[in-house]
Amino acid sequence: MEETPVKVAVRIRPLLPKEILHNQHVCVRVIPNTQQIIIGKDRPFTFDFVFGQNSVQDEVYITCIKPLVSSLIEGYNVTVFAYGQTGSGKTYTLGGGHGVSMAAKEKGIIPRAIQEIFQRITENHITDYTVKVSYIEVYKEELRDLLDLETSSKDMHIREDEKRNTVIVGAKECLVESADEVIQLLDGGNAARHTGTTQMNEFSSRSHAILTISVDQQVLNLEGANRTVWNTGETSATSVQLISSKFHFVDLAGSERVTKTGNTGERFKESVQINSGLLALGNVISALGDPRRKSQHVPYRDSKITRILKDSLGGNAKTLMIACISPSSFNFDESLNSLKYANRARSIRNKPIVNYNPDWDRINEMELEIQALRQALQNRRGALVNRANQASQSLTEEQEKIRIRSLEERLALLQFECCHYRNCTEDAFRILLELKGTGSLPKSQLCKLQEWIDVTEGFQADNSTPRLNSTAEEEAHLITCLQLKRELKKCQDALAADEKAFSQKEAELKQLQARINTVLQENKVHLAFLDEEENKQKLQKEKMVEQQLLIDRLRQQLQGSNTILYKSCLSTDGTSDNDSRCVKRSYSVPHQSSQTESFTATKVTQRTSKKVVVVSLQIIFYILNL
Ligand code: ADP
Repeated sequence: MEETPVKVAVRIRPLLPKEILHNQHVCVRVIPNTQQIIIGKDRPFTFDFVFGQNSVQDEVYITCIKPLVSSLIEGYNVTVFAYGQTGSGKTYTLGGGHGVSMAAKEKGIIPRAIQEIFQRITENHITDYTVKVSYIEVYKEELRDLLDLETSSKDMHIREDEKRNTVIVGAKECLVESADEVIQLLDGGNAARHTGTTQMNEFSSRSHAILTISVDQQVLNLEGANRTVWNTGETSATSVQLISSKFHFVDLAGSERVTKTGNTGERFKESVQINSGLLALGNVISALGDPRRKSQHVPYRDSKITRILKDSLGGNAKTLMIACISPSSFNFDESLNSLKYANRARSIRNKPIVNYNPDWDRINEMELEIQALRQALQNRRGALVNRANQASQSLTEEQEKIRIRSLEERLALLQFECCHYRNCTEDAFRILLELKGTGSLPKSQLCKLQEWIDVTEGFQADNSTPRLNSTAEEEAHLITCLQLKRELKKCQDALAADEKAFSQKEAELKQLQARINTVLQENKVHLAFLDEEENKQKLQKEKMVEQQLLIDRLRQQLQGSNTILYKSCLSTDGTSDNDSRCVKRSYSVPHQSSQTESFTATKVTQRTSKKVVVVSLQIIFYILNL
C-alpha cells in the first residue's frame, strides 16, 4: 500500500482594517518563489503550499483542492481541515455556503469543490453516481446533526465499518442531485451552528464542524466483464463495481488560548473544551508525526474530533491541512503556535486506497452464480431430454425385436406342427395304399379311398417341402428360444438401469431448481432492503424540508420579537443597543468598532439576549401548542 504524507498549506490573511487602525505591524513574510515563510525576525518554516496576503480564493482552490476532487472521483477518501486561531481566515478560506449573495471570485473552497464534483458527474455518462451529504458538529464533546437538529447526540455513534473506515452511525445523510442542493443544506446547517462573540471575532466558531460529501459510483468492471462465468464456460458482460469515497471538510474551532478570548462563565468553559479537543488533536499529530514514537499508542480516543479524523490522520485518506494565520504582530504567539502545529502534521503518513464496496462485489458474485446455475440447469435439462429421447427410441427398437422374435418362435412352432402333420399324412398315405392293394375293401369305400389318394398326391406334387427331421429341428428351436430369452433379460436390465439414471437426474434437477429459488429469494430480500432504505431516505428528506420551514417560521417570529424587545429596551433604558443581534453567524464580517465599544455592546447584548431567549421560548411553546 502506497504511503502519502499529509500535505500542509499555510495561508496568511491580509491585515484587517481595525488592525491597521491600531497600528499593528506585519510579522510574517513569504520568501518569493519558495514554499517558505519567516515569522518574526528569523523563524523559517517550509510547507507544501504557502499563500501570502495577496493570494486569491481561485489560486488556493486550483493549487490544493482541485487535485483532491480528482482523487475523490477516482475513489479515494479525502479530508481538508482548516486550523488556526479565531479570525485567522478559516471560514473565509473554506467559504462554505454563501449561496447567491457572494461574488463568484470570493467563494471559498467548499462551494468550488461542490461545483466541480457535480460538473465531473454530469460530464461522465458511463458511470452511475449517487451523492449524499451529512453535516455534523462537535460541540462541547457532544455530536450534533446539523441537518437534523432533532437527532439526539445519544443516537449518534462514531464507529468503524467492516473495512475499518470511521463512520458516524445515526447521522442524517441527504441524497442530493445538484450543487445548489448541497449549498442549501450547508446554509441550513451553518445557521444552526454554535457560534459566539469573542474578543477575537464577532462570530467566532465555538465548535468543530464536519461536512461530508459521499460519492458512490457504479463503474462497469471491464475485468469482470471478461470473467468466465462459473461452470458454464461463458463470459459475462454485466459486471459492475461499486466505489464509495468521501470528502470531509473540517472547520475546526478557533485554536487561540482561553485567556486571549476574554471569555468568562459558560463561554470560558466552552473555550476550555474546544482547547482540550484541539490539544487531543495536537497529541495525535505529535504521536503520528514523531518517528521515534511510531510503535507507541496514538490517543485517537481522547476526544470526539480525533476519533472522527482517525482515517484522515494516519489512515485511509488523502489529507490536506490548511493552517490559517494572521499577519499581525499582535497575534505573533498564536501564529507561531499554528505554524508549529502545522509543521508537525507534515510528518504524518497516510495510506489511501481506492474504496471498492465489498457488498456490491457479493451481489455481483451472486448474480453471476445465478446466471451460471441457470445455464447449468438448462444444459442439464437439454442433456436429460436427449437421453430420454434416446432411451425411448432404443425402447421401441427393443420391443420390435422382441415381437419379431416371438413371431419367429411362433412360426417355428407352427412349422414344427406342420411337419409333424405331414409325416402323419405320409404314413397314413402309405398304409392306405397298402390297404387298397389288398382289394379287401368294398367298392364304395375303395372309391372314397381313391379320391383321398388323388387329393393327397396332388398336394404332394404342389409342396415338395422336404420332410423334417423332428428331433434336430426341435433342438435348434429350443437353443434359439434360450438365446432369445437371455437377450430379453439383458434388455430388461439395461432398461431398468436407464430408468434409475433418469430418476436420479430428475432429483438433481429438482435440487438445482430449489437452489436457484433460494438465491432468487435472497436477491428479493436485498432488493426489498434497498427499497426500504430508499423510502426511509425519502421520508427523512421530507422531514428535513418541514423542519427547514419550521426554522424559517421560528426565525421570522424571533426577528419580530427581537424588534419589539429592542424597541422596549430603548424605551426603558434610553440607550441604543446597535450590537444586539442573533448570535448565529452565517458568514463573518469584520467588526469595525473599537474594542472598548464592543465590550460595552457585549454586556448590553447579554442582558437583551436573556429577554430574547425568554420571549423566544414563549413563542416556540405557543407555536408548538398550535
Ligand atoms: P475564522 O473563521 O478563522 O474565525 P474568518 O474567516 O471569519 O476567520 O476571517 C476573519 C476576517 O478576516 C473576516 O472578515 C474575513 O473576511 C477576513 N479574511 C480572512 N482571510 C482573508 C483573506 N485571505 N483575504 C481577505 N480577507 C480575509
